[in-house]
Amino acid sequence: PTFVEMDDVSVTYGAVGSELALQAFSVRIATGEFAAIVGPSGCGKSTFLKLASGLRPPTAGGVIVGDKEVAGPLKFVGMAFQNPALLPWRKCLENVMLPLEIVEPFRSRKRRDRELHRARARDLLKAVGLPDAADRYPWQLSGGMQQRVALCRAIVHDPRLLLLDETFSALDAFTREELWGVVQALWLERQFTAVLVTHDLTEAVYLADTVHVVSSRPGHIIHSEVIDLPRP
Ligand code: ADP
Ligand code: ADP
Repeated sequence: PTFVEMDDVSVTYGAVGSELALQAFSVRIATGEFAAIVGPSGCGKSTFLKLASGLRPPTAGGVIVGDKEVAGPLKFVGMAFQNPALLPWRKCLENVMLPLEIVEPFRSRKRRDRELHRARARDLLKAVGLPDAADRYPWQLSGGMQQRVALCRAIVHDPRLLLLDETFSALDAFTREELWGVVQALWLERQFTAVLVTHDLTEAVYLADTVHVVSSRPGHIIHSEVIDLPRP
């Protein structure tokens, strides 16, 4: 079954629609698949992510996520960016819990729910190899560790779709490969659908089942390939 489906989607920006960000873009991403969209800066990767998360509508064409035409921001989506974007005044555990407070705002006022959220966040930090980060502040951690915390925050509410926006691009080569392993392990265990947008083809081939290569002509897929690599 298909989880994300875009058919002939176009997006233009600006009052007169002069900036073309995506032109007649079509893609299908299967449920549980790890897909990558690779292309140079300006090819429409961020615009694709805004469409897939419901943060903006297409100018033309249809966007379907999880069997429904997207009509606004989706709750069952998690996102991780190039910058970890953790709140510096909150300890890592409380950063990870943030989506739970937003998705379940009324329930979370109950003390028992809050304890459940806390346990869930703590377990996730352990799962990504950061058992001791819970009570530390983001700025006390390295960039790679902060990005692990950001990944925990992206999936703590059990999203069905994880969107990775150049999540590994600012890391050094060694840390980047470690993080690839972390994301792959989370994906294998939790079976969400994942879409990575990146300009790094090596990374795309390493992580994804299917790689879509987009040219600098906005939204023009020049090559899609199913990567048939053995999984751990
Ligand atoms: P529109 O009003 O055309 O829909 P948005 O509201 O989506 O545009 O714009 C979102 C943000 O993107 C704005 O804050 C704007 O400053 C920024 N932006 C403007 N031009 C560009 C550009 N060429 N590339 C990327 N971002 C841009
Ligand atoms: P990428 O993420 O691959 O760099 P984007 O989706 O950000 O690509 O942008 C695709 C094209 O749309 C670029 O030419 C960019 O300048 C333009 N664009 C993106 N956002 C805006 C905006 N808010 N206003 C005007 N132009 C934009």
